[in-house]
Amino acid sequence: MTKRQKKYTPKYPLVWQKDDFFIEIFCSIPNIATGILLTTDDSYFVIDPGDGILRDLNKTLNASEIMDISDIFITHGHHDHVGGVWSFLTYLTVMRRKKTLNIYYPEGCVEIESIYRAFYEVYEHEVNYKINLKKITSERAIRRKNVVIKPFKVNHREPNDTGDGSFEIPSLGYKFTYQGKTICYGGDTAYCENLVKHAKDSDLAIIEAGAEDESQSELHMTMGQASKIGESAKEYFLVHVPE
Ligand SMILES: [Zn+2]
Repeated sequence: MTKRQKKYTPKYPLVWQKDDFFIEIFCSIPNIATGILLTTDDSYFVIDPGDGILRDLNKTLNASEIMDISDIFITHGHHDHVGGVWSFLTYLTVMRRKKTLNIYYPEGCVEIESIYRAFYEVYEHEVNYKINLKKITSERAIRRKNVVIKPFKVNHREPNDTGDGSFEIPSLGYKFTYQGKTICYGGDTAYCENLVKHAKDSDLAIIEAGAEDESQSELHMTMGQASKIGESAKEYFLVHVPE
């Protein structure tokens, strides 16, 4: 007798496209990894490059397109959102990149600054490209190529050492507008009005539903909270769902 084969339906990637405006969520699993690629007619951006980002980019882009990635957007410093930064920077070094790379991140995100310093210490003599660390200190919109990027504050926290509470960490969502279409990505956050405001009427909202169940969580959103925000957009994906 043959053993019945298990069938797996892959949950990722999630892909959305309107004309040249394209986004692919390679992965968004709490404590494992996030990884998002956003492209337009002339731009390649990466959002939250968690572990495995090179492997995932390599499935969609060719090597020269990976070299065209000009900007990285970080929502917060948790390892499942920044774990791939080191290998990405090293890859660009090995591939002899010359073009500048911008890394946008929330003010106070020590993880990005530490990775950058350690990276420079190791590869100082081999890096041929400039890395611009762009600390985001306000919600002022940024224009990169044909895309306007609006950072907005969200409310993400982590448990404290004693396990009896939590503290807020620097965390952002980003709203990307290209040719009149908008994609709103909230990053990791508890339910917050600023996300409600930015997600509303977006062409696509990418909303985390990271709470373990429907009980109130100060770290993540419940499925009910996340769906409610998602439904205020034209289309939405729920991501970061615990497995
Ligand atoms: Zn997080």
